[in-house]
Amino acid sequence: MLRQVADGVRVHESEFCQSNAVVVQGQGGVLLIDAGVLDDELTCIANDLADSGQTVAAGFSTHPHWDHLLWHPRLGAAPRYGTARCAATVRERLPDARAKARVAEAMIPPDIVEQVPLDLLGLIAGLPAGTAQIPWDGPLVRIIEHQAHASGHAALLIEESGVLVAGDMLSDVLIPMLDLNGADPIEDYLAALRLLDGMAGDAGVVVPGHGSVGGAEEVRARIGQDRAYVHALHEGEVVSDSRIGPRAKDGWDWVAGVHERQLQRLAQASDRDRTPR
Ligand SMILES: [Zn+2]
Repeated sequence: MLRQVADGVRVHESEFCQSNAVVVQGQGGVLLIDAGVLDDELTCIANDLADSGQTVAAGFSTHPHWDHLLWHPRLGAAPRYGTARCAATVRERLPDARAKARVAEAMIPPDIVEQVPLDLLGLIAGLPAGTAQIPWDGPLVRIIEHQAHASGHAALLIEESGVLVAGDMLSDVLIPMLDLNGADPIEDYLAALRLLDGMAGDAGVVVPGHGSVGGAEEVRARIGQDRAYVHALHEGEVVSDSRIGPRAKDGWDWVAGVHERQLQRLAQASDRDRTPR
C-alpha cells in the first residue's frame, strides 16, 4: 500500500527491513526510487499505479546494494538511473547472471530469497558525473551525491514538496553503516552528513532507505544522532545510541552486531596504519 507523505510523494514500506520505496508524481507518470524488495510488494506497487492509471516514467537507485537495485516486469521498461559511480560499481559486481546468483546466495537472507525477483537486478544506467537533477518530466529532484555508506550513494531532495530521500542514511533503526572499503570511511561519512545538513532547512520530511519516515524536526535530529555515532566510533568511545542495545526496536537487535564489526574493522585499519613498513 502506498502512503502519502507529502504532496505528490508516496511511500511503500516493505516487510523486509522496513525498506522504503518512494513514488513521486510527475506529468506523464511517476518516478520510482528504490523500487522495493519482495515480489508481491513490487506487484502491489505496480497494481496501485495501474489502478490509478499511472505508469512508471523513470526509476532511480540510491546506491549499489542489492536491496536498492531491484525491479519487476510489471513496473514496465522505463529508464532506470543511478549515479555514474553507482552504475560502475554495479557493472563491476554484477557482470552476469552468475554474479547475480552469487549475490542471492551471499547477501539475501535465505528465508526471503525465493521471494526476491532477481531477473532485473541492477539494470541501471549511470547519469553523467555531476548531474544535478534526475532527467524526467516531473518536479525537480536534486541529486546529492557523496561517498558515505556505498560508492556513488546519492540522497535526493524533491524540492517542491521538501522531501529528503536519504538512501541508507538518517535512519531511526539503522546506525550509520560505513563504506569500509572506501579510502576514508569516517571522513566520507561526516562529509556526507555536512552536505545533508546544508539542505536540512529545505526538508520537511525525511524518508530513509530503511526505517520510519520523519518530519522536519527529525531531519536535524537524525543528522545529529548519526554524527554523534560516527564521532564516537572514530574516537573509540562508548557508543550510547538508541538503535543499539536495550533500546533498539524489536527485531533490530542484529544492528549491535553491525556496530561490533565496524569497531573491529576500524581498529584493524588503524593497527595497519601504525605498523612500520
Ligand atoms: Zn545499503
